[in-house]
Amino acid sequence: MGRIRVLPDQIANKIAAGEVVERPASVVKELLENSLDAGATRFRIEVESGGRRLIRITDDGCGMSRDDAMLAFERHATSKLRDVKDLLSIATLGFRGEALPSIASVSRLLLETRSADDSTGTRVEIAGGKMLHCDEAALTPGTSITVRDLFFNVPARKKFLRSEQTELAHIASLATHYSLAHPGKTFQLMCGGGDLLHVTPVSTLRERVYQVFGSQTLEELVELGDCRRELFLPPPSVPPSEAIAAYAREPDEPPSRAFRVTGFISRPQVQKANRNSIFTFVNGRLIRDRVLLHAISSAYHNLMPQACYPFALLFLECDCEEVDVNVHPSKTEVRFRHGSFVHDFIRDTLRDRLIETRPAPAFTASSAPQPAPALPYSEFTQMLENEAPEPATAAHSPSVSEGAAHSPSVSEGAADSAAPQFTLRPEPSPPPRLDFGAGAVAVGHEHLVDTRPAKSRIPDTHGEFPPGTLPPFSSSLSALGDLRPLGQIHESFIIAAGRDGLWIIDQHVAHERILFEKVLKQRAAGRVETQALLMPLILQLTAEQQIEYARIADELHSIGFETEPFGARTIAVKAAPAAVPVSDLEKLIFEILETAEGEMRGLSMDDIRRNIAASIACRAAIKINMRLDQNKMEWLLGALAATDCPMSCPHGRPIALQYPTREILKAFHRI
Ligand code: ADP
Ligand code: MG
Repeated sequence: MGRIRVLPDQIANKIAAGEVVERPASVVKELLENSLDAGATRFRIEVESGGRRLIRITDDGCGMSRDDAMLAFERHATSKLRDVKDLLSIATLGFRGEALPSIASVSRLLLETRSADDSTGTRVEIAGGKMLHCDEAALTPGTSITVRDLFFNVPARKKFLRSEQTELAHIASLATHYSLAHPGKTFQLMCGGGDLLHVTPVSTLRERVYQVFGSQTLEELVELGDCRRELFLPPPSVPPSEAIAAYAREPDEPPSRAFRVTGFISRPQVQKANRNSIFTFVNGRLIRDRVLLHAISSAYHNLMPQACYPFALLFLECDCEEVDVNVHPSKTEVRFRHGSFVHDFIRDTLRDRLIETRPAPAFTASSAPQPAPALPYSEFTQMLENEAPEPATAAHSPSVSEGAAHSPSVSEGAADSAAPQFTLRPEPSPPPRLDFGAGAVAVGHEHLVDTRPAKSRIPDTHGEFPPGTLPPFSSSLSALGDLRPLGQIHESFIIAAGRDGLWIIDQHVAHERILFEKVLKQRAAGRVETQALLMPLILQLTAEQQIEYARIADELHSIGFETEPFGARTIAVKAAPAAVPVSDLEKLIFEILETAEGEMRGLSMDDIRRNIAASIACRAAIKINMRLDQNKMEWLLGALAATDCPMSCPHGRPIALQYPTREILKAFHRI
């Protein structure tokens, strides 16, 4: 008796409809997800010509009986759904029963499969949706699906495919990210006879990140640990008579739902120009979701300049009932039942972790936002192309041979050229210290191409993970409290010695951070320090400023400004936060109103409050080009050490750079 059934119309009609086979990477995604659903632990993906000529995925999963193997190519045939209720709690990656028939209708497909219970296997051959053969065959248990000549019968589609390299990059990215979601499984991606990715089972995500990205990347990341939060559901409303009966029996639904997040995020100094380095998985499914993206950005608010984004690899797990995956045909979007809970959970978890670890940037950190390369598959690309301009796109770059001849750093651009990009560049330039983003996303693409020395084509050449030798997290700003200030450079930067190296601290932004947190804390406690002005300051506002003023007047008041309307479009400022020099007051208020106008529309009141506090802190902080005596420097470092986030100023600039002793020793050839 087979496991697969054709869904009745009333269920099929409730499934998000649409095309799933858009490009080779979408075929890989569907087949890989099927293999994962089949419980496989080993996945081999073979690709030729960027997946146009051949895609073969071989797994050691549960396989299919002969009946199932034939039924699998019917539309809406699936073993994963039985009735409409199942749609509310989908635990498998697939559920639509459409992938195999869709792929088979636009390619020449060969299915070879054997269930472990059967003594022989089945071979099914289909071309353009027509079944050509179905034979018994001697096979090992598991499934292998070979897809040749994708879109051979749909020339219009074929025209829209990008170059082989681009398609291959999408496939590599996809395979790598699924390998990150399953550290305990083997993933192999082969192209042109060589491995692009080959990772063997390891027991932790940290080890898998090391296998895929290498130790340098790992050093720039902060691991989240195992973070959980429970959502307490309101009790279901029941009529009193039933409530008495219900009291005695088990509740239908648990009164709370557990959410868990694990993964890695980058230190605030790793700044990407777009969101392409953010990867979010929900219950093992790689998805793109606005709630999660927003939560991640909020976690870095006031730690990173606006319009910069971190690297993130997040795995959220929750009850299947909490997330609707039946939203988009290619299953790349979800809808959370309790979106704002999820948002706050993610934001708080990330922020708390950054505060706890206080990662310090190193001297060599590049401060400009780094471009992040292409995305795993097109839905993502499309969504993001609307959000942020892509950096130098692959399509307009020199060919590889040209690039290789004239420039050793052709890596990023050359993705679209015809020659095999995954072979290596003649002279890989050393990767910028903080630039792992390329590897983070382009995985097979950029990282493999760009940053490995010639001998390593395979990410796994980072080798076995020797126990006890994990690269340590780089230095933490927790050391700030023990620093000994030695003097200033340019009367702007404090030089300090610590047990773990030499530090340079930007005195202005350090003070800014101290004041920013102080203002917010005083505001929260309702105890702001204010100064009354001898003469009220009269300010003339424009119509827009007047509107913004009305919107934030209460907030201005609670943070220490005493203002009142003074005739048409004029306000009188009678008192201000204590630390702000009176001479700067006018500029400060206009600055606050201007930010309010421009960017605050989309911000919450909490974000607005933080921005006002940032403006106050900036005006009140000691300036650069100011001589500080020993006591002042000591005070500044002590106060900075006591802040929650000594990593960045409220506008996202780094505060302290560390030259670790280890690096000093290396530079002097002592180790
Ligand atoms: P869905 O994954 O939505 O169920 P598909 O068209 O992708 O639909 O697959 C149809 C069915 O074929 C699956 O429900 C599953 O039972 C079976 N199947 C597909 N791929 C595999 C595989 N690699 N191993 C075992 N069974 C598979
Ligand atoms: Mg499927």
